[in-house]
Amino acid sequence: MVFSDDITSIKGIGAAAKEKFQKLSIFTVGDLLEHYPVNYDIFEQLRPIATVEEGETVAIEGVLLRHPETRKVRNLSMVSCRITDGTSNIYVTWFNMPFMAKQLKMGTHYILRGKVIRKNGFLSMDQPTMYSRQDFTNKLGTMQPIYSLTAGVSNNQLTKAIGTALKEVEAPKEHIPLEIRKRYGLIDYKKALRMIHAPKNMDEMLEARRRIVFDEFFTFSLAIQYMKNNRAITKNENVMQPVKECDEILERLPYKLTNAQMKVWEEIKKDVASDHMMQRLVQGDVGSGKTIVATLALCMAAKNGYQSCLMVPTEVLAKQHYEGIVELLEPFGIKTDLLVGSMTVKQKREAYARIAAHETDIVIGTHALIQDKVEYDRLGLVVTDEQHRFGVKQRETLAEKGEKPHILVMSATPIPRTLAIILYGDLDLSVIDELPANRLPIKNCVVNTNYRQTAYRFIEKEVLDGRQAYVICPMVEESETIEAENVVEYTAKLREALSPSIQVEYLHGKMKASEKNEIMERFSSGEIQVLVSTTVIEVGVNVPNSTVMMVENAERFGLAQLHQLRGRVGRGKHQSYCIFVSGSRSKETMKRLEILNHSNDGFYIAEEDLKLRGPGDMFGIRQSGEMEFKLADVFNDASVLKQAAAAAKEFLNDEELMKKKHEYLRERITSYAGQTSL
Ligand code: ADP
Ligand code: MG
Repeated sequence: MVFSDDITSIKGIGAAAKEKFQKLSIFTVGDLLEHYPVNYDIFEQLRPIATVEEGETVAIEGVLLRHPETRKVRNLSMVSCRITDGTSNIYVTWFNMPFMAKQLKMGTHYILRGKVIRKNGFLSMDQPTMYSRQDFTNKLGTMQPIYSLTAGVSNNQLTKAIGTALKEVEAPKEHIPLEIRKRYGLIDYKKALRMIHAPKNMDEMLEARRRIVFDEFFTFSLAIQYMKNNRAITKNENVMQPVKECDEILERLPYKLTNAQMKVWEEIKKDVASDHMMQRLVQGDVGSGKTIVATLALCMAAKNGYQSCLMVPTEVLAKQHYEGIVELLEPFGIKTDLLVGSMTVKQKREAYARIAAHETDIVIGTHALIQDKVEYDRLGLVVTDEQHRFGVKQRETLAEKGEKPHILVMSATPIPRTLAIILYGDLDLSVIDELPANRLPIKNCVVNTNYRQTAYRFIEKEVLDGRQAYVICPMVEESETIEAENVVEYTAKLREALSPSIQVEYLHGKMKASEKNEIMERFSSGEIQVLVSTTVIEVGVNVPNSTVMMVENAERFGLAQLHQLRGRVGRGKHQSYCIFVSGSRSKETMKRLEILNHSNDGFYIAEEDLKLRGPGDMFGIRQSGEMEFKLADVFNDASVLKQAAAAAKEFLNDEELMKKKHEYLRERITSYAGQTSL
């Protein structure tokens, strides 16, 4: 078995399973082996009951407080009892195991392990596993991998398939040069794969993780530096001159550009008129007004006779940008087209024809923009918005659709400058470090779940005043499908909790693009007043009339992501509010959330978050979840990122890469940067 084999070559995976695995982007044996655990179930020491918290999986030891009770609810038999260990007690329930009632004896010590939940206000465990002392001791310290899943694929099934693949796959070719592995103390690839999926202990896992994270950053940095070296000499073949239409737009706007926006706009104008093609990253906090800057650039390209496009990660955002840009640019005779996946075949065909014939000046869309079928005519500028949601490769594929078009990249991820220089090392950096002056700072609060009703009353009051609200639904780790169900359920409850005159609707990732668009449109127009959503709304959405953002389970999100979510409000002239509802009262959680409570500055928050994180914090919350790394996290693994980038830089200086012995490394690099970069 080799990496590139189809996953059906693994025993036990047939055509039906194959389809389900594809939903996890697992097509080959290699994909399967790089489907790394998102966390581990670590068998830890017994815990005093007084110390356990909701949401944790723990083992406890105690005796029955009273004889167990058996109840029947519909067809379900339930055996429940209260267990005490002297420090506190906890409710335990078993379903459809009536024999437990006889088995459980007063006075006997039991070891139970399971997830702690809160039921009717009491800490409880449903269906915990019971262990003998011997079994428990044997398991102590072991780590079971936990994978991200999809409907129809269980954790057990994945663990088993990966186990089989690890046994049968031929040793993958090592692609990190030996000297580098030696210098940075990295174990070999095959061993790392085994140890990341089935670590014997924490040390093994950390060693494996370090190798893989370094690997991801190293190949990425090589790709970036290659592109940079190649481009430094790229002549500007699409020179653009300033046009009067841009100045007219600026005059017509209901506001004045901030100094920071003005500065970036000047930089862009200078770039596209210079000797070299533009490759610029505009980093600006949420709400800093990046869209208008991009719009001006698109206008300038059009009036210089060039086609240009704007690629965004979601259809909702594409639609929104499309409408805004048409409104601004149509009066100048500039034609804009939308190109998104949910369009019919006919609609797409017609759009392709208009694009190829250059009847369209600006094309706005999602990944649909980089399909083979799209042929541009004199593509002179490509803009990607929310770049952190794309891979470098997608950005490059878009650029390759033209003859060395200018590249403008926008991102709101407040990555500290030291890291941004590495991650976007092939680009020049502009920062919009100023918010429009008319903004009132958002008022924040961090509360626990008891505050929910008060929050609902507050939302009602804002809606009565004509405003709108977002509620981000409790997060579900297991799968997107469960998350979707969760949003639907939460919405039903919220409708009951709020005054019936308020329109509440929901949005989640499993909905069809057309449904999402419709909901977003109705929310934008004010017809829907409260929008319950998963984090799908976090990117780019702009409804300035929304003034309340309520985030359930705030403790499960990274600070940077919470900051992005918060950025959906405070976009207009009304006072806005952000309510972070935390399901955990742990000190660390509170300390983290307090940072958000006290600052609305994304860069500050990112830096503080970084400081609070220790080496043990690599699971659970992925800061930059959407970056293109499978395991690495640019925030948590910042120190490895710096090492790997330094190693890559040195290595490139040696001009080693083109030697035959590095062919596997070259393969890896092209998987990041696309064919033409090497
Ligand atoms: P982001 O940087 O998050 O993409 P947007 O470009 O969506 O932000 O802008 C957010 C809102 O601020 C929009 O409604 C936009 O019209 C408005 N805006 C942009 N620039 C200014 C400005 N200089 N003054 C006032 N409002 C502005
Ligand atoms: Mg934006």
